[in-house]
Amino acid sequence: MRTDKNLFNDVPLKGVQEECGVFGIYKNDDFDIIGEVYNGLYALQHRGQESAGIAVNNNGDIKCVKNPGMVSEALTDKLLKTLPDGKIAIGHVRYYPLDARDVAGIQPLVMRYIKGSLAIAHNGAITNIAEIHHELEQGGAIFQSNSNAELIAYVIASKRLVTDSIEEAVLSAMDMIKGAYSLVISSPSKLIGARDQYGFRPLAIGKMNNSWMISSESCAFDSLGAEFVRDVEPGEVVVIDDEGLHSYKKHCGGKTSLCAFEHVYIARPDSIIDGVSVHKFRMNAGKALAKEHPVEADLVCGVPDSGIVSAIGYSRESGIPFGLAIIKNKYIGRTIARQQQSFNKRLVEIKINVLKASVQGKRVIIIDDSIVRGTTCAHIVKLLKEAGAKEVHMRIASPPFLNPCYYGTDIKSTDNLIARQFSAEELCQKIGADSLGYLSLEGLNNLAPCSNVGFCTACFTGEYPTEIPTQVYEDKFSKKIQK
Ligand code: SF4
Repeated sequence: MRTDKNLFNDVPLKGVQEECGVFGIYKNDDFDIIGEVYNGLYALQHRGQESAGIAVNNNGDIKCVKNPGMVSEALTDKLLKTLPDGKIAIGHVRYYPLDARDVAGIQPLVMRYIKGSLAIAHNGAITNIAEIHHELEQGGAIFQSNSNAELIAYVIASKRLVTDSIEEAVLSAMDMIKGAYSLVISSPSKLIGARDQYGFRPLAIGKMNNSWMISSESCAFDSLGAEFVRDVEPGEVVVIDDEGLHSYKKHCGGKTSLCAFEHVYIARPDSIIDGVSVHKFRMNAGKALAKEHPVEADLVCGVPDSGIVSAIGYSRESGIPFGLAIIKNKYIGRTIARQQQSFNKRLVEIKINVLKASVQGKRVIIIDDSIVRGTTCAHIVKLLKEAGAKEVHMRIASPPFLNPCYYGTDIKSTDNLIARQFSAEELCQKIGADSLGYLSLEGLNNLAPCSNVGFCTACFTGEYPTEIPTQVYEDKFSKKIQK
């Protein structure tokens, strides 16, 4: 057992960080396309706070603005006024990992090649990126960034030279590119959406009067007053042009694996993904937790934001009253986050506070969506006890997070995965809780019986739906040697 005193220091504040949100519009009505893409990105802000950008296609000429920061910081009025009107526009918000802070990789990316201009925005992670990079570089390709989007754009552009249309080029690129990708692309005259064959990341189609939209999540359509038409199917390519929407299903029909964490933590509760309401999924998770890990208590509360709905579900199933106890400051900007990078415990303190009057003298059940590195849960238990809670029972609305993710979150190694170091009992002791219970894998798998797709649960089980990058095999090998 690890006994490192600094166990909960110097690790990132949040658990799973999602890397991107994408949005696109094909305009057939009279409205401000840039303003509406901005609003769409604003609704997707939870998927990435590190950069934002918009590319507008004005008769094949694509102009792009992008910057580090949240949507309101990165895309100022002054900057947006430099963009022309256009028929097609795409946008992107991004969280990118600390070791790859690469301004050249901020999206959308705009490429100019022999067939015209191409703008691309990507959510996910390509698992064979090293192999494709190597192959293309051997052929003389030069890349400005190490971004997946640039690689995908390059592959599509090269396929376009030997195919008759952009849709054929995208379908052909999908034969080559492995892993997780939900894309919006603007060609000179078309808006394209593409989702990898497993459907790791969501992608949805919306309509506002005669205009079409493609978004990472359906919540963005609601905020624009648009109608949610349907999801892009795993493996599907949709192309929108003057004649409407065309669908290509060459890569559809195989095993599907939507990231279970989209429902657990990443997506907004007002989104519907592949036929399942995120809100309902979290509510069911709370109910299942109450059945699997009952305990006598006076109050159930949740860690904002994603733990709140599960706490309501736990309360409904158990009959124990629900109440607010944890208050989160949602407005931690990049400046504070950067200043506090090496003092993450302090950052947790800035971000989270406890309503003392709610918990004083009470036996409290606190629900969180997941425990990845353990930073936040340790601090929350401490805060609740300091506020006078008599007992603190921690319940987690997902199974122990044991394995890295290669499909678009920032958990790329086993480093600091707390569930690998401690059993539930050990971790409970370590964080000072009175009991700790995770939702079982079986419980998780039963939460969405109406889902149109299967779920990826690889971070819990180690059973990856695809081949994984080569370094994982090396990692496993070194683990064997250590034993
Ligand atoms: S490994 Fe986990 S976080 Fe990654 S895609 Fe699968 S379920 Fe999601």
